[in-house]
Amino acid sequence: MDIDVTIVGGGVVGVAVAAALARPERVVLLIERNARLGLETTSRNSGVIHAGLYYAPGSLKARLCVEGRRALYRFCEERGVPHRRLGKLIVAADDEEALRLEAIRERARANGVERLDVLDARGVVALEPKVRGLAALHSPDTGIVDALALVAALWREAQDGGAEVVLGTEVVGLDWIAGGWRVTSATQGGGISAHESRIVVNAAGLASDRIAALAGIDVDAAGYRLHPIRGDYFSIARAKSARVSRLVYPVPPAVGHGLGVHWTLDLEGRARLGPDATWLARRDEGLPPIDAAKRARFLDGARRLFPFLELDDLTPESSGIRPSRRAPGAGEQDFVVAHEEVRGLPGLVNVIGIDSPGLTACLAIAAEVRAQLAVAGRI
Ligand SMILES: Cc1cc2nc3c(=O)[nH]c(=O)nc-3n(C[C@H](O)[C@H](O)[C@H](O)COP(=O)(O)OP(=O)(O)OC[C@H]3O[C@@H](n4cnc5c(N)ncnc54)[C@H](O)[C@@H]3O)c2cc1C
Repeated sequence: MDIDVTIVGGGVVGVAVAAALARPERVVLLIERNARLGLETTSRNSGVIHAGLYYAPGSLKARLCVEGRRALYRFCEERGVPHRRLGKLIVAADDEEALRLEAIRERARANGVERLDVLDARGVVALEPKVRGLAALHSPDTGIVDALALVAALWREAQDGGAEVVLGTEVVGLDWIAGGWRVTSATQGGGISAHESRIVVNAAGLASDRIAALAGIDVDAAGYRLHPIRGDYFSIARAKSARVSRLVYPVPPAVGHGLGVHWTLDLEGRARLGPDATWLARRDEGLPPIDAAKRARFLDGARRLFPFLELDDLTPESSGIRPSRRAPGAGEQDFVVAHEEVRGLPGLVNVIGIDSPGLTACLAIAAEVRAQLAVAGRI
């Protein structure tokens, strides 16, 4: 074998896996189809370090979010990655929503979330005077992180361990051969090359189901097919951005996907509203511009909690696509982190369906990949 570990995909998960597996005595190669690391979903999200409030107890999402959040704060503090533990409110705008806060509180408790305070309407105003709400949950351990700075710090760590990267190169073939995998890649110039690798980690984000299919897995039978869900953001006028100092979320919608359009802040204090959730009809639709007509819909929803907003305060900003395993009408879906030895594909680890909270969980996902390979005696 030419290579010990090949990682397909240089988003935050692939780079975290590279950092976790890199050792001077092990040849680790990361392959990324774009010209730089972290250009896809990793840099098109809310940038929130989630506490672990929402996810089904016992799920990988719940465990890896809580473990990942703790590890991520530690990593950011030690490596100087810009981040802020600014806290978050989940605000109920009516009685029915106030009742649903209790279910979130139960999940948070079951997931081992350390701190979560219950607020009445006066408590909401005391923390966020411009936000309107009947009741809320306050999570002091929710924060924000600069995702690209995180990718850069993780990649430095991977390089220090001896990992190498090939950019502008797409993995197009994955064939089982005795003792490992033949990985075929295509460069943007059209060149084709192949190498042999003992281990392959599929961290290809929106293309991770396709990579699994290249390895011969029936992605429908395995439950690996992705159903990408687009989310759009609107920026908030600078003058209004400063009116809210924490992340503010609604109670998640009872139907549909996502946590609900929320108020996010970046490290410079710029506020955005988003993301909504629209399943993409076609996989390769790309990201056409945000439909400006959505502005009124965003405003309608947002004014329940942020009555000071006006239509002119919202400007279409950016979009991201969630690599979700959840089909329209289906229930919540978990992350997949699976060493495929049980399918007769030893040395292949699939990391699939890493939608939110994948940024938060990246270090824990990487630790899980390493643990599964170690248990199988592969590393
Ligand atoms: C709208 C939105 C909001 C979100 N908000 C949050 C949040 O606030 N907090 C949070 O924790 N999470 C959030 N998430 C989820 C988070 O962004 C993702 O879980 C995370 O970025 C996934 O990282 P990744 O490395 O798996 O994927 P990606 O960043 O997509 O990386 C995969 C990489 O693989 C590469 N690739 C694909 N195919 C190939 C191939 N054949 N060969 C070589 N390279 C290939 C791609 O180019 C890409 O760079 C959000 C997601 C979205 C869309």
